[in-house]
Amino acid sequence: MFDTAIAGSLPKPAWLAETRKLWPQWRAEGEELARVKRDATLLWIKMQEDAGLDVIGDGEQSRQHFVHGFLEQVEGIDFANKVEMGIRNDRYKAMVPQVVAPLRLKGRVHATEAQLLRAHTTRRIKFTLPGPMTIVDTVADRFYGDRVKMAFAFAELLNQEALALQAQGVDIIQFDEPAFNVYLDEAADWGVKALERAAQGLHCTTAVHICYGYGIQANIDWKATLGQEWRQYEKVFPALAASSIQQVSLECIHSHVPPDLMALLAGKDVMVGVIDVASETVESPEEVADTIGRALQHVPRERLIACTNCGLAPMSREAAEGKLRALAAGAALARERYGRTSE
Ligand code: ZN
Repeated sequence: MFDTAIAGSLPKPAWLAETRKLWPQWRAEGEELARVKRDATLLWIKMQEDAGLDVIGDGEQSRQHFVHGFLEQVEGIDFANKVEMGIRNDRYKAMVPQVVAPLRLKGRVHATEAQLLRAHTTRRIKFTLPGPMTIVDTVADRFYGDRVKMAFAFAELLNQEALALQAQGVDIIQFDEPAFNVYLDEAADWGVKALERAAQGLHCTTAVHICYGYGIQANIDWKATLGQEWRQYEKVFPALAASSIQQVSLECIHSHVPPDLMALLAGKDVMVGVIDVASETVESPEEVADTIGRALQHVPRERLIACTNCGLAPMSREAAEGKLRALAAGAALARERYGRTSE
């Protein structure tokens, strides 16, 4: 009960990349870069285990950005000529690569990280991939001329990589779809279908993470415009509840999401965000357990997984390490509080 997992990313050590950046520059290149990526992945596997987490990830140490890390292994994308584009409905500008030809995988994308994970922990392992709709929103299209068509083209490639990850022993494959909180109608219409295409044929656990973004200023400013009640999830949750995806990761602590929206996910495992990623202040175990307690009013306890609101990538290492420990300690406290006595 109350398994613990992180949404996905963790801070990169200063010897691997620039710190506290969403698109950091690597500190090394070639073989040396491959070596330090591996070192950082091993470090975070150990840190997650030591903190006491039940599900372990690679902390996304090998990708510069959660979307572009996948795109780098895709043929048909021009990385040499990036263009500036407003993303997430123009919330912020980013330099993005361009799709210029039919999309194909050059080969495996995350084979090394999955192999490291499987070899170095006996706990369940989760691997994250960007979702098709979010990819489409983070790349410039000069070829397909149709968002839906391009999303399904990416979904096919994601599916190839996901099946390969599963074959390597990955227990949970999670697709990250922050765009679902931005393009609400499209998400409920074709976004979820594209996601199901990406997950087609998987027999491991499948998950989707939907958030209000990293704790960067553009997102903090955006959240300030969303009013007292954030009801974005209301549109997409019914479509997800009807889908084949098994777990849904959502924001809870310090967000203005009405907790009763979680009830729309009946039949799914719910990864409840009990760790804030927009603040370096480390939660107390009591605060984490309280948040779990609030979520339990809308989610059956056997379906609740304690998670972070989003990735921890742009944070300090100290804060991230503290938050991993708070997550595990808070879930343990919640098990004591709500484990046996409530029935
Ligand atoms: Zn997120």
